Amino acid sequence: MSYVLKCASCGKKLLEYDTPVRKFGSPLKECKKCGARYIDPRYHELAAEGIPEEDFKIPPYIFLIVIGVLIIWRGIYLFSGHMLGTPEEVRWLLPTVFLVFGIVLVIGGILEILSVKSGRKMNKFNRLYEESCKRLENPSYALTLHSMGYKVPEQYLGGVYNEGNRE
Ligand SMILES: [Zn+2]
Repeated sequence: MSYVLKCASCGKKLLEYDTPVRKFGSPLKECKKCGARYIDPRYHELAAEGIPEEDFKIPPYIFLIVIGVLIIWRGIYLFSGHMLGTPEEVRWLLPTVFLVFGIVLVIGGILEILSVKSGRKMNKFNRLYEESCKRLENPSYALTLHSMGYKVPEQYLGGVYNEGNRE
């Protein structure tokens, strides 16, 4: 089932996707047609939600590599002529797709593990976290997010409320 989000004020289709890609950044967007603000559910403010720990776990990436190796192995098996009944001119196609897909998985898994182990991934997340803090430290931004139903930690909202109560 695909997810569709339409603009609450003009009805323009804003988003449509099957599997949400998780992104880090400001979820506050503007409708291109009428300028109304909306929350893009794919985006996450790291300073509000915290750095996702599961991104730093190694086993899922090892799993990815194992799957990749199995797919490569399968591709090689198919190359060695176990595809009876397939026209000769396309016999290379499926094993090639298998090989490429398997190699992409293996390399992707290895790069992720290297990035976690070397601390590069943490650096990247820390940088995104800092940017997120800066955005949320702007009281009008934090309050806008809050009023639109996005969960903003009280520390970012407190300032605004206190200012209003100041004598
Ligand atoms: Zn609109």
